[in-house]
Amino acid sequence: MPGTELFGAEERKEINDVLETGMLFRYNHDQQRNGIWKARDFEAEVRKITGAKYAHVVSNGSAAIAIALAASGIGAGDEVIVPPFTFIASVEAVLFIGAIPIFAEIDETLCLSADGIRKALTPKTKGICLVHMCGTMADMDGIMQVVKEHNLTLVEDAGQAFGASYKGKSVGLFGKAGSFSFDFFKIATAGEGGAFITDDEEVYKLADAYSDHGHNHVGNNRGMEQHPVLGFNYRISELHAAVGLAQTRKVPQIRETNRRNKKILTDMLAQTEGISFSKLMDPAGDSATFLNLLLPDQETAQRTVDELNKAGVGGFNYWYTNMYHFVNQWDHLKNMQTASKLPAQVLGMPQDYTNLQLPKSQEVIGRLISFGIRCTWTDEEMKTLANNISNAVKKASLVPAM
Ligand SMILES: *Cc1c(COP(=O)(O)O)cnc(C)c1O
Repeated sequence: MPGTELFGAEERKEINDVLETGMLFRYNHDQQRNGIWKARDFEAEVRKITGAKYAHVVSNGSAAIAIALAASGIGAGDEVIVPPFTFIASVEAVLFIGAIPIFAEIDETLCLSADGIRKALTPKTKGICLVHMCGTMADMDGIMQVVKEHNLTLVEDAGQAFGASYKGKSVGLFGKAGSFSFDFFKIATAGEGGAFITDDEEVYKLADAYSDHGHNHVGNNRGMEQHPVLGFNYRISELHAAVGLAQTRKVPQIRETNRRNKKILTDMLAQTEGISFSKLMDPAGDSATFLNLLLPDQETAQRTVDELNKAGVGGFNYWYTNMYHFVNQWDHLKNMQTASKLPAQVLGMPQDYTNLQLPKSQEVIGRLISFGIRCTWTDEEMKTLANNISNAVKKASLVPAM
């Protein structure tokens, strides 16, 4: 989690600016705030890094996905294709805006594949909630072709991929709208925070209003603003925005160091038999927050995890069993245990979540071990880590004699 590795004076300075005025609210109060607009500055920084025409920062990344979906016109009863490998917020967002998640296959990119999407299409498919996982990016050429062929609405959850791009274009800008997370575990953190980006002015205006009870944010009398739509409260506070601003300014530096560190580790590990890597569609656009190893099969991956644990090597995720990012761990979703009835439960759900057939996704995630890249690693630490990983894989690959 690189952002938190570099928490210091810059973050304190931005927070102090807010504390000086006591203006914790992001809108209005022009006199009292004395020119301090942290949410606005945070948005400018997000635009700078992504190249998006419009950015809007909100309370968290989960809210940002829901806003992106709603502002893109996805709503009650619409079928939306989702991946089985993601932080579950992407699936929850689809459910809670009233739509119906349809699971499709991922591939070695760790993201939905064009082929997987194609196979999951039905006449009711309205859109795709594409998730760019583990700091990297999906196969955008292949996916955009399906989007165009079938006139689908694409929304990108780039919660883990702030700073990543594909052929020079930031993730989050390929469809109608994209979202990022600035929670505690991401490349930059606001403590809690999220961002919504788009190049479409109408979508932006809708998102801006939707995330603040419909306020159109015109003029300086909040009580008398117009409300083009109903909305809800997904606002970020100035304190969180201050942290997000300072952290986001560090992203270009973090990304450069991450890429260097990832390359050093990749070069060392490529020599070890049995280790390959997830498919990077554009290596030049990697945010490089994760080193994603693919082992030959699930059994070898599990034995590698056991060897790493025995040797006391930490800092990795085996998503297949140890983390909450894969469908196999989502019993509450499979059984649709909800606090109160959701539209999907009333409208009927075409997929039986207790009996999903996703063999490719099972195979890929079964083989995947991801190491979080740290931007503060020394060359010596990386050498030790590569040796430890290499030894664990070698031991795990020795098949016991029958
Ligand atoms: C972190 C994350 C989210 C959720 O973001 P929060 O800010 O924690 O709400 C959504 N999607 C993905 C892929 C994430 O990694």
